[in-house]
Amino acid sequence: MAEGFVAALPSAGSTAVQEASPAERQQEIVMKLEEKVALTLDQLGIRDPASVQRLFAEVREALLAERQQLVAGGAADEADRIRLAKALRDRWLGRKNGLLSFIGEHWLKPAERDLKPSVGRAFNELRQLAAELEVERLAAQIPIRAPHKAAESPEAGRPISAPAPDLSLPGYRRPLGSIHPITRVQREIEEIFLGLGYRIETGPEIESTYYNFDALNIPESHPSRDDVDTFYLDARTVLRTHTSPVQIRAMQKFGAPLYIIIPGTCYRRDNPDATHSPMFHQMEGLAIDEDITFADLKGTLDYFAKRLLGERTRTRLTPSFFPFTEPSGELAVSCFLCEGKGCRTCKQSGWIELGGCGMVHPEVLRAGGIDPDRYSGWAFGMGIDRFAMTKYDIGDIQLFFQSDVRFLEQF
Ligand SMILES: [Zn+2]
Repeated sequence: MAEGFVAALPSAGSTAVQEASPAERQQEIVMKLEEKVALTLDQLGIRDPASVQRLFAEVREALLAERQQLVAGGAADEADRIRLAKALRDRWLGRKNGLLSFIGEHWLKPAERDLKPSVGRAFNELRQLAAELEVERLAAQIPIRAPHKAAESPEAGRPISAPAPDLSLPGYRRPLGSIHPITRVQREIEEIFLGLGYRIETGPEIESTYYNFDALNIPESHPSRDDVDTFYLDARTVLRTHTSPVQIRAMQKFGAPLYIIIPGTCYRRDNPDATHSPMFHQMEGLAIDEDITFADLKGTLDYFAKRLLGERTRTRLTPSFFPFTEPSGELAVSCFLCEGKGCRTCKQSGWIELGGCGMVHPEVLRAGGIDPDRYSGWAFGMGIDRFAMTKYDIGDIQLFFQSDVRFLEQF
């Protein structure tokens, strides 16, 4: 390190040997923090709220110090600025390996019950602080080093002519957003079935007429195949009108036994209004095994409804018809608001329609390559959007897709 540079540091007085360079000091913080976030609070010996406060204060200081160092260090050019800003952002907020995700995973999640509120609060504060590490704005604060000076002393990674950042200015805040209500409901349903041992399967949204109709026992003459109802890309390709084609794909891929749920986006040529959207979301469940009966269907859906809407929920099945199940039924659940007495949400009926279900048609099993003489199965499908509307008392389905944060922030 050049003599002159050491002398120019504000902490000049100690010798170059004793004084760690900014890079080395940062490395020290890096090591410490990264070691700490790999352990749980218990492993760190932190068992009371005051220690939690001290630990998080340390982390916040580290974040501010790193940010300050980044700005003080300057950049060689515009690209370097972005690269440096992005590196800091990723270090803290990277989805997989960001420090915050480790802190959430190792400190917050396993925190003891009585410690959880203080860890939660401190974690939220930290998140708000970290939200200000927005790449473009951060980059804009990093001064670009004067080229000729940089050439003279390449090791001295400090701005020479850039103005000092004004630390009294308010920071930049980038809100982290919230989970979309459709995603929230989808995850709630997924959690319940994952707990029962089902796995999640997905499939293409652009689908062949074979998978979308033929393999599901929907005949050529069926009205849903009409181009008034379905978006055709060509005579044999459609935007899938339901998630059911994934049933066939999964049967062909995995065979039996099979326990899956299928969330996904579907498309129909509906004119947009308060209850219709040409794009919507479905969730489908499928269980195939030896000796699967209608009792399994009833039992599973009853359990599902109670987990989704509360222990007091009752379920009702009424006969229906679908080409891909036989027999078929409509599932309704007792209204979770009035518990069956009748209210606006259930249109005074006491019941809320949840979806369709039935025993998988033998022709559908055959199309999936499964022997209907040995195996049987049940299937269930529901509209996620419709259910989210009922659950959150939303009168207009269009609100889900207008990206209006004033609406979305409420969830
Ligand atoms: Zn009701």
